[in-house]
Amino acid sequence: MTESDIQGTPGSALSGSQPDLSVTGRTQHHRLRDQGRTDRADLRAVLSAGFIAHLGVIVDGAPMVVPTSYGFDEDHLYLHGSVASRSLQTEPAAQACVTITLVDGLVLARSVFEHAVNYRSAMIYGVPRLVTDPDEKLRGLRSLSEHLAPGQWDYARQPSRKELAATSLLALALDEASVKIRTGPPDDADSPDAALGLWAGELPLISVWGQPLPDPALPPGIAVPPHITTQAGTPVFES
Ligand SMILES: Cc1cc2nc3c(=O)[nH]c(=O)nc-3n(C[C@H](O)[C@H](O)[C@H](O)COP(=O)(O)OP(=O)(O)OC[C@H]3O[C@@H](n4cnc5c(N)ncnc54)[C@H](O)[C@@H]3O)c2cc1C
Repeated sequence: MTESDIQGTPGSALSGSQPDLSVTGRTQHHRLRDQGRTDRADLRAVLSAGFIAHLGVIVDGAPMVVPTSYGFDEDHLYLHGSVASRSLQTEPAAQACVTITLVDGLVLARSVFEHAVNYRSAMIYGVPRLVTDPDEKLRGLRSLSEHLAPGQWDYARQPSRKELAATSLLALALDEASVKIRTGPPDDADSPDAALGLWAGELPLISVWGQPLPDPALPPGIAVPPHITTQAGTPVFES
C-alpha cells in the first residue's frame, strides 16, 4: 500500500470527543458492510473487552501472525515480549496489522450457508514503534499488566532494570483501524428456508474466570489478594 491509498484523516485518540475512525484504503469495509463500525468508541469497547491480539508481520519475507497480550491507552496499542522475539523485531517502517477478536456465540441458521458467528473484532494497521523512553516503557507495560489483571502491577514486584532491558515494547498508533461487530439471530428468517421447520437461533459463548489455584510451592498463610478473588466467577470478556 502506498501513502496515496490512505484517504481520510486519521484520528489520534479514543476519547468520546474524538472523530470517527478514519476510512482509508485499508480500513474501508467491502463485504458484510452492515457489520462495520466507524465510531471510535466501538474500537475502545473492543480493546477493553478483549485481551488477546494477533500481531501480523512479515518476517524473512513471509507472513507471521503471533497471538499476544496487549495494553492500550488513548493513542496506542502496546505489545511486549522478549527482545529475542522475531515478531517484535520488525524492520523500521515495516507495516503490521494487529487484530483483536471476541467470539460471542454461534449463529445457527436453517441453511449451512447462512451460519455465522456473533463477534466483535478490530484490525489496527500501522508501523509499530519500539518504545525506548523509560517512562513510556513503564507506562505501556503497566497498561498491559493492568488490562490483563487489574491490581497486579502494584501487587507484584516491579520489573528490574535487567528485566526491562530484556523486554521489547512496541507501540502501535490507534490511527488507522477498523471495527466489525455482528449480533443477533440468523439472517434467513424471511427466506424460503424458514418453511423447513428447522430450529435456528444463537448459541451464546460465555467465558468465566475460574477459582484461583494457589501455586503448590506457596508457603502457608499467603492469602489470595482481593483483586484476584473478585475476578473469580466474572465474565472474561466484557459485553
Ligand atoms: C470470529 C470470526 C469468525 C468469522 N468467520 C468468518 C467466516 O467463516 N467467513 C467469512 O467470510 N467471514 C468470517 N468472518 C468475517 C471476516 O472477519 C471478514 O470480515 C469477512 O470475511 C470479510 O472479509 P473481506 O476480506 O472480504 O473483507 P473486506 O470487506 O474486503 O475488508 C476490508 C477491510 O475491512 C476491515 N475488516 C474486514 N473484516 C474485519 C473484521 N472482522 N474486523 C475488523 N475489521 C475488518 C479491514 O480493515 C479490511 O482491510 C469472521 C469474523 C470473526 C471475527
